[in-house]
Amino acid sequence: MENLQVLKGLLESPKKVVILTHRNPDGDAIGSSLALLHFLEKLGHQCLVICPSEYPNFLDWMAGLDKVIIYDVDPDTSEAAIDAAEMYFCLDFNALERIDKTGELMMAYPSKPKVLIDHHLDPEDFADFVLSETSASSTSELIYDFIRLLGWEKWLDRLIGDCIFTGILTDTGAFKYATSAKLFRTVAALLEAGVNDFLLQDLIFNSQTEKSLRLLGHCLYNRMEILPEFRTGIIVLTKEDYSHFDIQRGDTEGIVNYILRLEGIVMAAFITEQPTIVKISLRSRGDFSVQEIATKHFKGGGHKNAAGGASFIGLKATMNKFYDLLPEYRDALLNSWK
Ligand code: 5GP
Ligand code: MN
Repeated sequence: MENLQVLKGLLESPKKVVILTHRNPDGDAIGSSLALLHFLEKLGHQCLVICPSEYPNFLDWMAGLDKVIIYDVDPDTSEAAIDAAEMYFCLDFNALERIDKTGELMMAYPSKPKVLIDHHLDPEDFADFVLSETSASSTSELIYDFIRLLGWEKWLDRLIGDCIFTGILTDTGAFKYATSAKLFRTVAALLEAGVNDFLLQDLIFNSQTEKSLRLLGHCLYNRMEILPEFRTGIIVLTKEDYSHFDIQRGDTEGIVNYILRLEGIVMAAFITEQPTIVKISLRSRGDFSVQEIATKHFKGGGHKNAAGGASFIGLKATMNKFYDLLPEYRDALLNSWK
């Protein structure tokens, strides 16, 4: 990170800090934000986290959620907090459009320092201090790196560690993707700081509702289509599915990954009909980049093997658009993995 000493100087006196993270926040968005919040509070700063939309229920146990403001629910408090902040941290997103209106509100203050910590490809150039590492498993892993870069690891404790571990665990699919020797060393340091990995795995993964587990069954049994000629699997959920299963935010978390359990499948697509948009969630194995598909065709982005985007032309036309893309990527799909 360039200008680390300047940033360290800023953090040496107490400030009002707002931490911003992306719409539909996941375990890494909330985990990294709360880890940073607890760390900055130990340094004497006053912190709030703001995200555009609500976080999933499986994170309900996390310490510090009382300091998370949801812009959609509480726009006035969010705006007042952004106005009052003296500096901003932007976590787990690479483009301002990922934080909706909160991005505009922050950018209305060009002279207030902004820090970006993120692991997505192609970060936009809007921050004064940037820790962008696309090889990192998660932004939470980078929060640990940030604390170490500052030389303030004496503050690392179980409270911060639990949040960092949550982000790492969820963004790696429980250590299945984006791991490295460095990541495991980081996790070892978290356990030494008191993190109970078994307890956290249980809190995070074994908290599903009966409804969402049955929804998974419905998706796999009735809604999954396999196209072996393109090594692609697709699950589609319609508006009717949403009302029939009373699907809430978080209920569909992780379903897309099941498609990749099939031998030989290289790309998985989870396509959902939302009230105003169609949301596309993509996963891949090997060299095949779903980030390219999300960016080029669905106004989105993400990582090589996990990306997402949206479509505004309705479900049927979106499905057709997706099917029509497959021949173009056929060679890459066939050659990307064993
Ligand atoms: P998910 O499929 O779990 O929603 O997202 C997978 C990855 O793609 C995440 O890293 C997320 O940040 C990224 N992503 C998902 N939706 C969008 C989107 O609409 N725009 C962009 N730029 N990235 C997205
Ligand atoms: Mn992340």
